[in-house]
Amino acid sequence: MSERPRSRRPAEVAPEEWSDWSWQMRHRIRDAAGLGAWIDPSDDERRAIDALGDRFRFVITPYYASLMDPEDPACPVRRQVVPRLAELDDAAGLADPLDEVAHSPVKNIVRVYPDRIAFCVNNECALYCRYCLRKRMVGEPEWAMKKRELQAGIDWVRETPEIRDVLLTGGDPLIFNDERLGWLLESLRSIPHVEILRLGTRLPVTLPFRVTPALCDLLSSFHPLWVNTHFNHPKELSEEAAAACDRLTRAGIPVGNQSVLLRGVNDDERVMKTLCEGLVRMRVRPYYVYQAQLLEGTGHFRVPIERGVEIFRALRGRTSGFAIPTYVLDTPYGKVPLSHPYLKGREGDDVVVEAYDGRLWREPNPLDPPEPAS
Ligand SMILES: *Cc1c(COP(=O)(O)O)cnc(C)c1O
Ligand code: SF4
Repeated sequence: MSERPRSRRPAEVAPEEWSDWSWQMRHRIRDAAGLGAWIDPSDDERRAIDALGDRFRFVITPYYASLMDPEDPACPVRRQVVPRLAELDDAAGLADPLDEVAHSPVKNIVRVYPDRIAFCVNNECALYCRYCLRKRMVGEPEWAMKKRELQAGIDWVRETPEIRDVLLTGGDPLIFNDERLGWLLESLRSIPHVEILRLGTRLPVTLPFRVTPALCDLLSSFHPLWVNTHFNHPKELSEEAAAACDRLTRAGIPVGNQSVLLRGVNDDERVMKTLCEGLVRMRVRPYYVYQAQLLEGTGHFRVPIERGVEIFRALRGRTSGFAIPTYVLDTPYGKVPLSHPYLKGREGDDVVVEAYDGRLWREPNPLDPPEPAS
């Protein structure tokens, strides 16, 4: 079993500062000079920072920056957060590929399914991922949510009895302080038809110190509450991240993971297997891996879907079943699972299936089975 990496705290930063999430937020890296303290930017990165300045700003927490390889621009952590020139040439990309704006009954609520919604309660994140689906809102003031706008969303849920599952996302809902988050969760919990609450947050990955014991106490008072986080690469499975997930699971919160399949980050069978097995060792269940959306400036991250299917086919039968996430394409009509076709078809009374290693099996399975004896 491999050792987990640890973040590299600079000698001049006191341990209690480093592990203080508000210190991390205040000391985020936002310019080339700040980045230079952590990595030696390549020519491409340097020029991209200049060229992209206003279009999609870069912001990185010192914690996450310390996981980057200072020498290697191909570092999978670095690729996720440092701008690259390739972001400038992606003709196919769209600002809102899932047409989320059209699926909003009220500001920042996205309803694709009858019984559940994604509620983008916040437009801020600890750092900005270069491939972010919600690029159009992250860090943009027009998508910020005022308290009365949050209240309008809560009121809509209260008046819509079909909604039994509310997913708080963003941006990142854990950027809120405990008081604001507590108010929001309490308001939703008081709605009788809301059965489960979910949080989608990348902070266990990008700022694990946000997951304080006080936060876990707060969250555990709103059960059943589920958390999904977003690890993409084994290098992110640090001691600190594992400790954050451990605090959440000890508070009775089931923790799942959603990754994005990203070229040059995790589009490789061995990397994906190491990631998924590392998550399971942290008691985090790999849930979804998303096909990267047709989003402007992210063409260099996209992987052909057939290649993605092969990666997950390679895991089947070769690791614990619950270490294997579902590979999905998100569409305006909902998420579509992408899988190798294990079900080959029917031949008379038999159904032919393919095992993980390619062997075929015929399962007797007549279409009109005999009536059960009464
Ligand atoms: C992903 C998503 C959900 C939750 O989907 P599950 O498959 O239940 O995890 C709900 N609403 C929207 C708009 C989503 O994108
Ligand atoms: S944490 Fe999520 S919402 Fe925030 S920038 Fe990254 S992908 Fe986008």
